[in-house]
Amino acid sequence: MTPSEHYPAPRLFLDGEWTDGTSGRRQPVLNPATGRVIGEVPHASAADLDRAVAAAARAFPAWAALGAGGRGPILHRAEALIRERAAEIARIATLEQGKPVAESRAEVMRAAGTLSYYAEEARRAYGRIIPGDPGTLLTVRHAPVGPVAAFVPWNFPAGGPLRKLSPALAAGCTLVIKYSEETPATACAIIRALEVAGLPPGVVNLVFGDPPMISQTLIADPRIRMVAFTGSVPVGKQIAGLAAQVMKPSLMELGGHAPVIVCADADPVLAARRSAAGKFANAGQVCTAPSRFLVHETLFDRFAEAVVAEARALRVGNGLADGVTMGPMANPRRIEAMERMVADALARGARLLTGGKRIGNEGFFFEPTVLADVPPEAEIMQVEPFGPVAPLRRFADLDAAMAEANATPYGLAAYGFTRSAATAERLVAGFEAGILSINHTGGSVHEAPSGGVKESGHGREGGPEGLHSYLYAKRVSHRLE
Ligand code: NAD
Repeated sequence: MTPSEHYPAPRLFLDGEWTDGTSGRRQPVLNPATGRVIGEVPHASAADLDRAVAAAARAFPAWAALGAGGRGPILHRAEALIRERAAEIARIATLEQGKPVAESRAEVMRAAGTLSYYAEEARRAYGRIIPGDPGTLLTVRHAPVGPVAAFVPWNFPAGGPLRKLSPALAAGCTLVIKYSEETPATACAIIRALEVAGLPPGVVNLVFGDPPMISQTLIADPRIRMVAFTGSVPVGKQIAGLAAQVMKPSLMELGGHAPVIVCADADPVLAARRSAAGKFANAGQVCTAPSRFLVHETLFDRFAEAVVAEARALRVGNGLADGVTMGPMANPRRIEAMERMVADALARGARLLTGGKRIGNEGFFFEPTVLADVPPEAEIMQVEPFGPVAPLRRFADLDAAMAEANATPYGLAAYGFTRSAATAERLVAGFEAGILSINHTGGSVHEAPSGGVKESGHGREGGPEGLHSYLYAKRVSHRLE
């Protein structure tokens, strides 16, 4: 093993202690670039989960009482530590998730910024004084909801946990966080930075294990007051159902199947270049990835040619190697899904413009793929691909394209390319989605909310809305005489 393949052993973090837990069970962690086992992650037992929840409940009153001003310095210090350690954390993220190490590093740096953004935003969680009856002081104040059970998937090993941890901690909540068993060591590195920065024991507890057992146990526990989940729509429905049974608020960041409408007045080459950047980032394993391309018929051939050129220019390989611009899929399930969706589209009459198959048999690599004239009934037009496959369709009428864009149960992201401000506003008004981008496919920012409508979920992460997801309003009416 070369030094760059050293993989730190992932552990549970319970009440301020790193431990392998008491279940005796473990599961292997694979490097998706080789398919080989690089480590093992311990599974939490029911007793470990109880310890985690007890710690989060015990730590909550003091953490909440610190106030935003008391919590902020710890979050700022953790951010500085994560930035200092970014190269090492990025290397670990690439080893276990696969994305190019430059992409991992950019993710670590960007995600670290959520800590300071929320440390400051929490200082602005203003209440209000409502004038009216002079004998009664009527105010609205915001209080942290309490201990949170958070569930985070594998596609953003650093960004995923920090999108939950930063607003929840800044708001004054404590957490039990179940992170993906497939990419566990990045979360350990991030939580280690919080620990070194001075986070009191019990404020954050990290668990891995059997996902249904953990979610059922944590959500049913009366000491847990809120549920935050990122993942697929089917699992999100199960989690939201469990939360509903015990009337707990839930924040659901689920899948998407983002349409891209390329209007007749757009620059087809620029639209293709920017669409491809969004499509193939993280090998397409992004909930907001552009994933259904509806292109005006007058531009279709030029757009398709330019997307194909972008796809062929990608250098697919081990994310730790120099010059690689697209890594492997994170797990073999994605390879199977890509093979199935491509075969289904071709069987229904789509044309393969480039790619279409697995690369080699070591690791989980799939060719950047472009399909043209994919019929709307193909699986890839209905179900989010979560992989590096771009299905293209042509349209003649913008209203029909909008109707098609909205014709799935998803409503997360949507993209449009046009040089007309009026057409852009028509797209913005018409798209049924929570995250809209015009003339680019750039990612999320700390200052603004992200989240979906329809089956893509409810609640928001990012911006002041993301902080308020972890706060509840108290109306206080105080008779002065
Ligand atoms: P999956 O739905 O089985 O798992 C997704 C995540 O949910 C994993 O981290 C898993 O550990 C967790 N999970 C699964 N069952 C759970 C349960 N009962 N309780 C708590 N957590 C549970 O799917 P997968 O094969 O890992 O990923 C593929 C699909 O997941 C993709 O097609 C995509 O739709 C979705 N996904 C979405 C995001 C996102 O950012 N919204 C991220 C990763 C995966």
